[in-house]
Amino acid sequence: MTDKILLLSGDGIGPEIVSSAERLLNSLATNFGYEFEVNYGLLGGAAIDQFGDSFPEETCRLAEDCDAILLGAVGGPKWDKIERAIRPERGLLRLRAQLGLFCNLRPAVLLPALKNASSLKADLVSGLDLMIIRELTGGIYFGQPRGIEVKENGKRRGFNTLVYEEEEIERIVKLGFETAMKRSGRLCSVDKANVLEVTELWRDVVDKMASDYPQVTVEHLYVDNAAMQLVRAPKQFDVMVTTNLFGDILSDLAAMLTGSIGMLPSASLDGNNKGLFEPVHGSAPDIAGKNIANPIATIMSVSMMLKYSLNKPELALKIDAAVDSVLNQGLRTADIASGGESSLGTIEMTDAIIDALV
Ligand code: NAD
Repeated sequence: MTDKILLLSGDGIGPEIVSSAERLLNSLATNFGYEFEVNYGLLGGAAIDQFGDSFPEETCRLAEDCDAILLGAVGGPKWDKIERAIRPERGLLRLRAQLGLFCNLRPAVLLPALKNASSLKADLVSGLDLMIIRELTGGIYFGQPRGIEVKENGKRRGFNTLVYEEEEIERIVKLGFETAMKRSGRLCSVDKANVLEVTELWRDVVDKMASDYPQVTVEHLYVDNAAMQLVRAPKQFDVMVTTNLFGDILSDLAAMLTGSIGMLPSASLDGNNKGLFEPVHGSAPDIAGKNIANPIATIMSVSMMLKYSLNKPELALKIDAAVDSVLNQGLRTADIASGGESSLGTIEMTDAIIDALV
């Protein structure tokens, strides 16, 4: 069966890294008989420029009609001053909400060849293999009311709402337990139950569900302690499950443990195999158009897409092995090269990974 993949390049470095991904997919087709077809859609700033809307109807239709979506990244200074409700980032939130992509998987794996690229000492991070599961369609990023209003005294007041329904917590925590069962049997739930009632409910739901998973050992951590522990001794964790906001911050922190944000892929799933796959990083406007962006996070996102949505684990393994192989050969992009090491551009690193596919 031919897989239908929607490519959304987005903004900044998005077109460069999504082009890398498309070349990789074409190579899988030529060399290993992978059958797929692609459609192209606009999201974010590029969509605002063409349609005046960061998530146009056409993109919505294409997203509903495909098997999986690969996104570069959205946003950039060009659109930072426009009304918040129609900014590029809001288009991505609408896409996630439209498809019900409530589960964000963010693996943070330190590849052995990169142990010296981490900002932590090599012995603290070598062997790190952590899965952060972030709730993606609820919490403070979506809660109403929200806004900035002018008070009687002329000063402004900003407000957002942190709200979670019990069912929203249950479905993400269930995936946390299931993931823990497939890995080491350890689950760390991160909240701020000492201060926020919403996360007191979160903790209660986790405790109630724990009896259904007697094989899993559950630990609760407050988010401030979790951040500290991730830097102090990251290998103590295996699977972490948390809210939208806390997961956003902790997964970027975990990204740095692995050397560069340019290395980390992510999957956003609807619970029925359909998913949006994208690098953890943003559109990096500071390096856009210079052929220096690291394409590996996007290439690893293709691997996750093949594994989690398209049921082609054997192709995913080929990609993982090709990335390992080029890194073991000492090939680097600028963001992961340590002092004095020469580096490859986006196109050249992609070529090297394609050449290493066996
Ligand atoms: P960013 O992740 O784009 O960049 C942070 C730093 O990391 C920059 O120095 C950048 O050059 C570097 N970097 C990022 N990706 C890289 C790569 N592949 N290779 C090498 N270096 C890389 O974060 P930011 O600067 O805070 O945000 C820039 C824009 O991206 C903003 O408009 C923001 O809203 C948007 N953003 C979008 C997403 C998304 O689309 N999912 C996520 C985060 C930020």
